[in-house]
Amino acid sequence: MRIVQKFGGTSVAGVERIRHVAELVKASWEQGIETAVVVSAMSGETNRLIALANEMMPQAVEREKDALIATGEQVTASLLAIELHRLGVPAYSYTGLQAGFITDSQHSRARILDVQCDHLSTHLDAHEVPIVTGFQGANAYGHITTLGRGGSDTSAVALAIALKADSCDIYTDVDGVYSTDPRIVHCAKKLDFISYEEMLEFASLGAKVLETRSVGLAMRHHMPIHLRSSFHNISGTLVKDEDNNMERAVITGVAYNRDEAKITIMGIPDCPGVAAGVLGPIAQASINVDVIVQNVSEERYNDITFTVPRSDYAQAMHIVTEVSQKLQARKVLGDETVAKVSIIGVGMRSHAGVANQMFATLAKAGINIQMITTSEIKITVVICEKQVDDAIKALHTSFDLDDVTV
Ligand code: ADP
Ligand code: ASP
Ligand code: MG
Repeated sequence: MRIVQKFGGTSVAGVERIRHVAELVKASWEQGIETAVVVSAMSGETNRLIALANEMMPQAVEREKDALIATGEQVTASLLAIELHRLGVPAYSYTGLQAGFITDSQHSRARILDVQCDHLSTHLDAHEVPIVTGFQGANAYGHITTLGRGGSDTSAVALAIALKADSCDIYTDVDGVYSTDPRIVHCAKKLDFISYEEMLEFASLGAKVLETRSVGLAMRHHMPIHLRSSFHNISGTLVKDEDNNMERAVITGVAYNRDEAKITIMGIPDCPGVAAGVLGPIAQASINVDVIVQNVSEERYNDITFTVPRSDYAQAMHIVTEVSQKLQARKVLGDETVAKVSIIGVGMRSHAGVANQMFATLAKAGINIQMITTSEIKITVVICEKQVDDAIKALHTSFDLDDVTV
């Protein structure tokens, strides 16, 4: 049996926590399981390093910023190796570069191209524990790159695939994937299983418990992820291919994202190419447009409303204002206080009336829906940010997700 164990920021937040993680690794190693480890930086450390770079120079050169923020993981990897030696476990820490994580050159959001890790396999064959820094790799020239925030999950899954591990165990500060963020709904239900497809929606719609790319990667390679707590010794949530034995509620969970802003351009001519004319320049600026609604307001005139990440709002507003002058739009409106709430579930495919129940529940809670978008297994609404917690709680109860034993 071969596994990759990944420990997130809170799990390695200080010397005591790292000692505890070493005990977990040792227990696995003692059972004869070939165990490779991926670690995050101590929680708060990546933010601290980014702030230091910004203090030095707000637009620091990306290459140097990556070289700096990759150091957080190096500290925890070495400390864990030291502690494992103290416990009598042979362990070797490796940076992403040393471990063979080859990425493209997009600093701060690099993609993994290959993991050349035969030397790590050799450690496993010799019953030794390789420890790899998450969140990082190097491009073809050996320049250090980072994968984007939360990227250690992706490092762990990529390593599990490269090492042909049986499972990727991701240890964090919650007991598993819950029906919604347990910080908001205390009676959220822990899920024993979730399909990749649902987890992918969950993650991409804002549930930060697993990074989106890591789920996509695991899904493509059928790598099971066991998300579990490093604080409590209980089994967590298995993320895997859907099978017919999975217990099915209509809705599996509720996700949210507060990092949203909304822009409306009103009174533009209703003719071919207008949507591309508005959204093209936004895409060229590498801004991700999410929910889009277009409708005819008056005869021959259109309104287009769309959402962007809040951090891109100012730039997107600037671009749209320029475009609106060219298109002779009537006006441009912006709102930085919106958020997205989504219900997710493969059960939706076979049940009618789910959207209606969602809208009725929100109406009863006095929550105004500003935009709606749907896919086969999710319905998303854009609402006022202040009402997010109320919306989540109301939907959680309405779709029978509350854990009554809590
Ligand atoms: P780590 O540092 O271990 O990578 P993260 O902070 O990235 O941990 O992810 C764990 C957090 O995700 C939890 O503390 C929890 O508040 C949050 N979270 C959001 N949605 C969910 C969910 N549906 N189930 C479990 N945790 C969730
Ligand atoms: N340390 C990185 C971050 O804080 C990567 C991770 O923890 O997954 O984003
Ligand atoms: Mg994380």
